[in-house]
Amino acid sequence: MPGFTPARRWQPPYYPFKREPFGTRVLESVERVVKGPMFGCRMCGNCLLQETAFICPMECPKGERNGPCGGSTTEYCYVDKTRPCVWYKIYDRAFRMGRQEMLLEVLPPLDWDKTGGETWADVYHQIQKVGGKNFFGGLLSGDAEKRSTAWSSVFRPVRQPEWWNGDANYHPPAYTEPVSNLEKRLKAGEFVVTAEVAPPMTVATNKLLKNIEIVKPYVAAINFTDCPSASPRMSSWACSTITIQAGAEPVMQIAARDRTRIGLQAEVLGSNALGVRNILCLSGDSMEMSSVPKGKMDILDMDSVHMLWILRRMRDEAIYMDGRQIKFPPKYFLGAAGSPFASDPRIQAIREHKKVNAGAQFFQTNLVYDPDGLDDWLEALEKRGILEKVYILIGITPLKSLKVAKYMNEEVPGVTIPEKLVKRMEAAGDKAEEEGVQIALELIDSVKNKKGVNGIHLMAVGWEEIVPRIITEAGILPPDFTPPAAPPPKA
Ligand code: SF4
Repeated sequence: MPGFTPARRWQPPYYPFKREPFGTRVLESVERVVKGPMFGCRMCGNCLLQETAFICPMECPKGERNGPCGGSTTEYCYVDKTRPCVWYKIYDRAFRMGRQEMLLEVLPPLDWDKTGGETWADVYHQIQKVGGKNFFGGLLSGDAEKRSTAWSSVFRPVRQPEWWNGDANYHPPAYTEPVSNLEKRLKAGEFVVTAEVAPPMTVATNKLLKNIEIVKPYVAAINFTDCPSASPRMSSWACSTITIQAGAEPVMQIAARDRTRIGLQAEVLGSNALGVRNILCLSGDSMEMSSVPKGKMDILDMDSVHMLWILRRMRDEAIYMDGRQIKFPPKYFLGAAGSPFASDPRIQAIREHKKVNAGAQFFQTNLVYDPDGLDDWLEALEKRGILEKVYILIGITPLKSLKVAKYMNEEVPGVTIPEKLVKRMEAAGDKAEEEGVQIALELIDSVKNKKGVNGIHLMAVGWEEIVPRIITEAGILPPDFTPPAAPPPKA
């Protein structure tokens, strides 16, 4: 049991990819046997312990290096219920130590060339560089600022390589004219509605096109998920392109789970050239949710915060992740998932704050069934001063049946449906569909005037025909709404 971490080292440590000199191997072995029992260290070679309240985040089975995923709970990790969510432990200890603001710094993804290598030598060389007297003198000083400067002079260069250069600051977009219809409407102060259309599980596009036509007049943009529940579907990129051809605007969702850093950068350049202007960055559901055989369950190449940081810099600084210049940089409006009911609002608020600093301009939230609980999250965001920096669209899903309600409550990470709503669905019997619509209308009514709420994200997955009715009856039709030539199919 490691001395300073909440649990054992769940996954084995990394070893270097290349043969190293004998002396280096000895040092690595010593570091491995010391830091493993103490911190659960996995020898990622890019040590973040100083920023993560001395708990190694590499215990996280998704390899999240910037905070908890949307499925996290205060009790356990959603991927493996036998272990705690390491990020909850990190935040909990950081709050107790008064180090929580350090968690805002955008930490880098792994440099796989260093994985398995020791980091003590890096620290030693950095101390030599700044001078032992300056470093230790600063640390022993009675002045908190001097202590912090001395600490940063050694540990910041170790954890923040030049190619990443992460920080804890807000970086406003380096452009003023909206790049998409969605951004234009939000900037104009319109109450915006987006809708999710399920990507097909075949190559046939007739149902996809039909669903796009159903929702198109009613929404500012249409979202396409990227293989939710870690199950293959038509790619978000292909669905987005088909949507543009059909005269509507897509929000292309990208899950870090299925991307390498090279693949991500290539994909956004390609999709941007094809006209995609809204991108939603997600870490993605764990492979644990997929069918067998399960894919790679361990550390991902990037998390959603990494994606935002990389994409924002590609757009605003015209550089690739490795620092090379992009002659004609991409233009897009960047979004991220907001998780009002994951972990704890004050923890989640730091996580959302970090996403905004990294580049998120809008949030589409996980499903909301408890408007009062949403207030806690919004208040926590307001306290951090980020409501003015990000647009928030609240996730609403009409419940089609009692079975769906129970499934979402029990199986979908980060979703909680209050008991009273489940009981209403049960009591409705064969009128459950209508009850689900009424619940959705009530939810929209109770969230639409909340401070910080800029719109609704309707996720009527597999029930797209209901979207026109809900938007019409909720009184949130777009200002330039033109009724479709033919009435939408009856829901
Ligand atoms: S709940 Fe999410 S963030 Fe927490 S340890 Fe599990 S996978 Fe990682």
